Amino acid sequence: MCGLLNINMAYVNGTLIASYFICKRELWFMAHELTPDQDNSFLELGRFIEEDYYKREEKGFIVGEMKIDIVKQGDENVIIGEIKKSSRSELTGIMQLSYYLMRLKEIGIIAKGEVLIPKERKKIPVELTKEIEEKLRKAIEEIQMIIMEPFPPKLEKIPYCTHCAYREFCWS
Ligand code: SF4
Repeated sequence: MCGLLNINMAYVNGTLIASYFICKRELWFMAHELTPDQDNSFLELGRFIEEDYYKREEKGFIVGEMKIDIVKQGDENVIIGEIKKSSRSELTGIMQLSYYLMRLKEIGIIAKGEVLIPKERKKIPVELTKEIEEKLRKAIEEIQMIIMEPFPPKLEKIPYCTHCAYREFCWS
């Protein structure tokens, strides 16, 4: 459903932040609640990794619009984790987590982050810096403008298309 009310509110969440750094067209599809191909094998892999990982880690929680995969107590700070399928999503994971760290800071919670890639046994520490905060604020403004557009951004082939659940929308 493409609810006019939702579009006018131009909400932003962690998933949209991640999409912004992958493909602005995907961001538009997501914001307009277009459902991707649920049988896409990469979505399946993502679900499997999350479910498998959750067996061993404390399950995430929801704060406002944020759905955080992992929450645990570190030596000094709370640590939040974002699970990704592969290193391909490392940058988007860092920006998504940074967005959560920024939102938590706004409500007085100073936390640190970790992007977790269980398949590759990788753990990338994430700290909110002034530069990243600035980048995120610009991204949020641009996301809101993209969402308000009546049509998705123009089609452009990128490496991520091969794995994208929306590829039927773009390349069939
Ligand atoms: S298929 Fe490619 S262009 Fe289309 S939404 Fe996915 S990444 Fe973007």
